[in-house]
Amino acid sequence: MEIKKGFMRKGVFLTVALLLLMGMTLQVQAATVGGTRVKNVKTRTADCQRVIWKSVPRASGYQVAYKAASGRYKYKKVPGGKVTRLDIGGHLPNVMYTYKVRAYRTVKKKTVYGAWSNPVQGYINKNIAIYGKEVSYEKYGRFYKDQSASYKDMRAVTVKTWDFASGKKGAKITRTWTIYVHKNLVSTVKRAFNEIYKSPGKFPIHYLGGWRYGDGRSEHYDGTAIDINPDENYQVRDGQALVGKYWRPKKDPYSIAKNGEVARILKKYGFSQGIWSDSYQDYMHFSYFGT
Ligand SMILES: [Zn+2]
Repeated sequence: MEIKKGFMRKGVFLTVALLLLMGMTLQVQAATVGGTRVKNVKTRTADCQRVIWKSVPRASGYQVAYKAASGRYKYKKVPGGKVTRLDIGGHLPNVMYTYKVRAYRTVKKKTVYGAWSNPVQGYINKNIAIYGKEVSYEKYGRFYKDQSASYKDMRAVTVKTWDFASGKKGAKITRTWTIYVHKNLVSTVKRAFNEIYKSPGKFPIHYLGGWRYGDGRSEHYDGTAIDINPDENYQVRDGQALVGKYWRPKKDPYSIAKNGEVARILKKYGFSQGIWSDSYQDYMHFSYFGT
């Protein structure tokens, strides 16, 4: 009798324990979400990358972490379990960006996170950024079949620069310029000139040129080149001025010094100065593909 009673008690106990365990399992299931995986990191424009990940069943959304080079992670929340991509702008060329993603699930105002994906890294690809595909060197500056095809991809961009109120010294004023550049370079050009404008040198600009079209090839035809102060930053071959008058950095405030503030900032955003060789230079010319 005693034994049987004990056995029954044990049976009840086990059943209760099992039910509790099942309940806990259900609760745990409701409050977890699986891990995801970054499928791809793609260049969108000159300063924007798209990160694409695998969807996770029952996710309420995703959290994307990204960082530049060895910097700190920044986070973006992407609501919606079915959204599996995010475009992130404000990037620079020649900087390695790292991305990782995790799913989250919100139940009754409580949010739980899945495991972080492996980090995936990528640079801005300059060809993809502008043309949407790999383009050979010979194509730079003559990608479009004619002027109207080229013009369709150009957008106006307005920037502020400093200039002298009069002459070449004394008080400076703000000038506003509207130039045309390739649509995928708009935010990059804005950011670059904003940085030049805010820099201590207050570099004076009294001519700024972007897109134009003509014969042969020039990155200006693709909207990937910018000219600054041509007279004081001449194009010169074998000592012969082709466009402009001279180049006298340090002597003339409108001349752009090699590796000076302006050249360094433009380089950071992907534009290099047209210093082609010892005998051929185009000091006014800053181009995205270096041609
Ligand atoms: Zn030029």
